[in-house]
Amino acid sequence: MAKDKVSAEWGELLFDDADMQERLSRPTYKKLRRVIEYGEPLDLDIANEVAHAMKEWALEKGATHFTHWFQPLTGITSEKHDSFLTLNGNDSILMAFSGKELVQGEPDASSFPNGGLRATFEARGYTVWDPISPAFIKDEVLCIPTAFISYTGEALDKKTPLLRSQVALEEQAKRVLNLFGRTPRRVITTIGPEQEYFLIKEEDYLARPDLRLTGRTLFGCPPIKGQELEEHYFGAIRPTVNEFMKELDDELWKLGVPAKTKHNEVAPCQHELAPIFEHGSVAIDNNLLTMEKMKLLASHHGLVCLQHEKPFEYVNGSGKHDNWSLSADGKNLLEPGPHPEDNLQFLVFLACLVAAVDEHADLLRMSVASAGNDHRLGANEAPPAIVSVFLGDALSPVVEALINKEHAEASERELMDLGVPQLPAVLRDNTDRNRTSPFAFTGNKFEFRMPGSRQNLADPNVVLNTAVAEQCERFVDYVADRSDEDFTTVAMRFVRHTFRDHQRVIFNGNGYSTEWQEEEAIRRGLPNLRTTPEALVSLLDADNIALFEKYGVLSETEMHARYVAKAEQYAKLLNIEARCMVDMARRLYVPAISSYAGDLATSVAARADLGVSSPTEKALITTLAKGIDAIWGLADELEKVNDNARTFEDPGELDNYYRDEVIPVMNSLREAVDTLEPVVGDEWWPVPTYNKILYYA
Ligand code: ADP
Ligand code: MG
Repeated sequence: MAKDKVSAEWGELLFDDADMQERLSRPTYKKLRRVIEYGEPLDLDIANEVAHAMKEWALEKGATHFTHWFQPLTGITSEKHDSFLTLNGNDSILMAFSGKELVQGEPDASSFPNGGLRATFEARGYTVWDPISPAFIKDEVLCIPTAFISYTGEALDKKTPLLRSQVALEEQAKRVLNLFGRTPRRVITTIGPEQEYFLIKEEDYLARPDLRLTGRTLFGCPPIKGQELEEHYFGAIRPTVNEFMKELDDELWKLGVPAKTKHNEVAPCQHELAPIFEHGSVAIDNNLLTMEKMKLLASHHGLVCLQHEKPFEYVNGSGKHDNWSLSADGKNLLEPGPHPEDNLQFLVFLACLVAAVDEHADLLRMSVASAGNDHRLGANEAPPAIVSVFLGDALSPVVEALINKEHAEASERELMDLGVPQLPAVLRDNTDRNRTSPFAFTGNKFEFRMPGSRQNLADPNVVLNTAVAEQCERFVDYVADRSDEDFTTVAMRFVRHTFRDHQRVIFNGNGYSTEWQEEEAIRRGLPNLRTTPEALVSLLDADNIALFEKYGVLSETEMHARYVAKAEQYAKLLNIEARCMVDMARRLYVPAISSYAGDLATSVAARADLGVSSPTEKALITTLAKGIDAIWGLADELEKVNDNARTFEDPGELDNYYRDEVIPVMNSLREAVDTLEPVVGDEWWPVPTYNKILYYA
């Protein structure tokens, strides 16, 4: 029988299990599988054979080069291409790829953000093969997923701490499961990243320097028609966009990326792609690959894919939902399960999650902090900057019953009978949703909704994995300290106490409401870190450093480096935005407005010669002239405050300065320009407006 289209192209450009099985000797194949599936250490003896097999496979697929594909602190992926070409004596060539080249590469670390690590240590950096993520071919290049570390082993990338946090969590989760009499070979995190993005016409993109240089519009009035008719969400997909989506699916399937759902999002021009969830670090690699493909393929259709968290003010921004769960040998640990006896284990993991989020809300907020995401968090479209957990109508009563039974006489067994056995049946039909919650339980997984669309999901997952590992260990210690008691009784007490102690973070109400943000959350003592500079300092907190050091995820030096890199990125982005605004104000907007005013003046003068008066146009000319003065004045002021930023050396102080002194002037300048947009003739306005960009055929 002929294969269907998807099965035929699936994994064509991925060095997958079938390719390994076909091309590797039995012992090597088995060794490699054990590394991939069971996390066993890599035996370097197999590297030469694997490299040879990969190269032969890649050459057959038309590849000419190979690259170590890695994720520096910029968040996007990096690559340097080397051809397989080697000279072989007299005029002949050889296509070669050694085990050493597979396992280790040596890019110059000095040109990547490193938060000062490079100054302290040697400039050299290494990329190291990550066999968990399969190699793939992209544009005739064999790509080897790698981790990126410094000469002395410090992580210089997003992936290294992610892999370390997966190891830490696996170890602690296994200890919890052992107490329940289970001994899985593997416990992994599963991640399903839902990616939002905008697609606009290339001609509009090219006509806007702000979009080209900063990824977002720095000026622009709200569109006449916004998203109030709610017609775009799940609406019919435009033919051009549909063509793009089809090509994207094809390309992703060839790469073994399980693209599943695609639809229009709430805002005009906004869309979403959700894949089927996969092993944590693999899912994140695939998300990065998806983002790259989206950008590239959009150009085939005369479109540009915007992945900025907030490309258009007044219009919903784009997020990336981090659907997260734990899986033990394929069994989802956040699935309440068909049997009541599973409930206790489920409740223990649930309690660990709730405690982890409450205790490390600051770190979770930090992990999604960026200048771009500050435009989303706290606006009524994305969750607020306050981290809380949504458990839903089905689970909340169970948790409440557990907490309230604290002082009752009921035995532990009765308590189990009271609320818990009903859990699976109720939860299965749980369809309620709360879009305003940053951290929502959605039936059998958690969905962390704060990450921005442009972000590498490694950061939030490093925090989540490590924080949950800590709580798992707390449970194991709690049980060990009470080894003379019945395990069920002790575990139930742990669950009750944990929910009681962290009840404040559970919130099922409307996260957008002012009541929550200005009263209730404050009363509960939940942190509200509104801006990036406030959020980033949690990387310098002694308790947080101790947490990451304890689980071997990040050292103090590495955390400090990350702090510096993120803080610098914030200031650098704002510097570019400020300079772009000054430039656009002086060289685009003012000349355009002036030209319109000049044309009006000419026609007013011509009409005056005929004895016709033009009071409206005269008033308009005055408005335009005053507007030009205001814009020019604010552009000068913005340039001055931005130049003054150079006097700050401390990255934290610099960020605070940008937030408190530069952003307000940027906002004023934007307002001065936007005020004139509705009164200047369309032909004169120098850039496409929101109306044009967001509503194309
Ligand atoms: P919604 O848009 O309602 O949030 P979707 O169905 O679009 O939901 O996306 C849900 C995402 O969650 C998908 O990527 C899906 O694969 C993922 N997901 C489902 N189960 C799990 C799980 N156990 N672990 C991680 N992710 C999961
Ligand atoms: Mg979602």
